[in-house]
Amino acid sequence: MTRFKRYLITSALPYANGPIHIGHLAGVYIPSDIYTRYLRLRQREVIHVCGSDEHGVPITFKARQEGITPQQVVDRYHEMNRSSFEKFGISFDIYSRTSNKIHYETASGIFKTLYDKGEFIEKTTPQYFDEEAGQFLADRYIQGTCPRCDNENAYGDQCEKCGSSLNATDLINPRSTISGSAPVMRDTRHWFLPLDKYEPFLKKWILEGKKHWKPNVYGQCKSWLDHGLQPRAVSRDLDWGVPVPLEDAEGKVLYVWFDAPIGYISATRELTAEWEKYWKDSDTRMIHFIGKDNIVFHCIVFPSILHAGGSYILPDNVPANEFLNLENDKISTSRNWAVWLHEYLEDFPGRQDVLRYVLCANAPETKDNDFTWKDFQARNNNELVAIYGNFVNRAIVLTHNYFGGRVPGRGDLTDYDLKVLGTMPVIRQNLEDSLEQFRFREALREAMNLARLGNKYLADTEPWIIFKSDPERVKTILNISLQICASLSVITEPFLPDSAARLKEFLNTGEMEWDKAGDRDLLTAGHAIGKGELLFEKVTDQEIENQISKLLATKEQNVKGKSNLPPVKENISYEGFSAMDIRTGTIVSAEKVAKTKKLLKLTIDTGIDTRTVVSGIAECFDPEEITGMQVSILVNLEPRKIRGIDSQGMILMAEDTDGKLVFVSPADKIENGSVVK
Ligand SMILES: [Zn+2]
Repeated sequence: MTRFKRYLITSALPYANGPIHIGHLAGVYIPSDIYTRYLRLRQREVIHVCGSDEHGVPITFKARQEGITPQQVVDRYHEMNRSSFEKFGISFDIYSRTSNKIHYETASGIFKTLYDKGEFIEKTTPQYFDEEAGQFLADRYIQGTCPRCDNENAYGDQCEKCGSSLNATDLINPRSTISGSAPVMRDTRHWFLPLDKYEPFLKKWILEGKKHWKPNVYGQCKSWLDHGLQPRAVSRDLDWGVPVPLEDAEGKVLYVWFDAPIGYISATRELTAEWEKYWKDSDTRMIHFIGKDNIVFHCIVFPSILHAGGSYILPDNVPANEFLNLENDKISTSRNWAVWLHEYLEDFPGRQDVLRYVLCANAPETKDNDFTWKDFQARNNNELVAIYGNFVNRAIVLTHNYFGGRVPGRGDLTDYDLKVLGTMPVIRQNLEDSLEQFRFREALREAMNLARLGNKYLADTEPWIIFKSDPERVKTILNISLQICASLSVITEPFLPDSAARLKEFLNTGEMEWDKAGDRDLLTAGHAIGKGELLFEKVTDQEIENQISKLLATKEQNVKGKSNLPPVKENISYEGFSAMDIRTGTIVSAEKVAKTKKLLKLTIDTGIDTRTVVSGIAECFDPEEITGMQVSILVNLEPRKIRGIDSQGMILMAEDTDGKLVFVSPADKIENGSVVK
């Protein structure tokens, strides 16, 4: 590791359209913060950069929904998340934002460099355009009828009623959500990053050169590279983002995936005039901390941009984590299934270190992992309180009781004493080895082993029993115990910064170098220590019950929302009903409608005639399996053209609240054309 002069640590830029939850913290920001704090303690030259990712359609969409500007959306969440990070001790050197001017300059500068070098491919493709509003429409800005479930308010990327993912061109009767008018197809020009062209470089760099990366990261990269890469659009038509810095590119901005990682460079420029030494000097070791959903962007796409740019270094490592679940269920913003940092701060004020501890001890380093409140309580009460806190408290209190708060000198050492003193530097060494390999759970276990060592040493030597008969021996025991406390205040700092600072205050030591941890003479005899307090408090059953009932209420709410059948429609007259001519018919043939995912073209023998019906059921049924089935069909529905096919009638389907579809068929075979009434 000595070949690098300095470190550049980046943490994934959180998207500024929602608050931060424990999954983010466990996956990215706790490991990156532990690592950075460790490097700082070792006196290495390091900066840690992060910031809000503030562009993209979800932000403009949220703004439109709430009737505010995109800037107001990102201002709100930028401030909220910046403050949460600060309160949890995530010690960025800068927390910037991609709506800053310096980022516009950096991102458009890099686009221009690649453009001038002829790296981009230019392509013209048709896209929906709103003639009234005079703008191209991102998928989210188009609504229409879902071809699968007939929901009239499905979006161009997804139907929220039946959950199917859609293409904007799948929608029946599409309309713009901006003006309400029907959009038209219009050609639009965009620039693409030819990832396929960089494949040889990426293969050599990753598959040959990065075999030491975590298996989950290396494996995902290999899978992408094995499947072959495609050019990827770097621009889109939107009015929120970094404008494409070219003539005739009005209304076009950089695609958010292109501009966001460049935010790391912008943040570094904002932090220091010497930014180039962090980004362009091969003596710098760059490490990206991210979650697994970001692997492709940080290992394939961003390195391709940097490589094409020509003068930038590439990441040395990308220790991505897997996902954290909550109480055996996937963390979900839309289902509100999460522990939000701003809520934790309200419920457990001043106890940020406990969450840091639990999330590190349980980090999803090699596989998805589960956070449970019971485990949170157990780890706090049985580990932080019973081992670490208990040991420190006893050592400090006994020193005050017996020696007026001054560190007593050591006398003759027993074999046990020597063993304990000899173990301390070994623990520090193990911890370093784990951290250098991004094994944070293991590293934390080592740190706690030092507390365990001290706690057991006191329990075994029982100074409170032998003080009367052998006070000299007690001097030695407490001296050694206090040396352990001092080392603990150093090596736990990356994990538990608040508690480590308090412990240093109790011991009255001030800052100590990392390399001193494990030393048997960190505290000199006669040094006056302060009065301690409890380092950690128990988490009560009541506190845990409160959290669990909060989650149960969320779950109930979600289930209720789901099983709510649609309300009964208004009454109609019998005449109204009998106006509908529903008959039995048989599906004679069925085939998929070309270039759609959902549509089947059915030929139905209605007994009266043979007719064509287009039905949005292709995702639920194979053409072969429904051919020959008897169904119910509304035969006097006004014909309409769907994808150029005249659809004459509608097949009756029953749909449950999950969007599952079944045919409404006669229970027994009956003559085609029979009236359903
Ligand atoms: Zn639908």
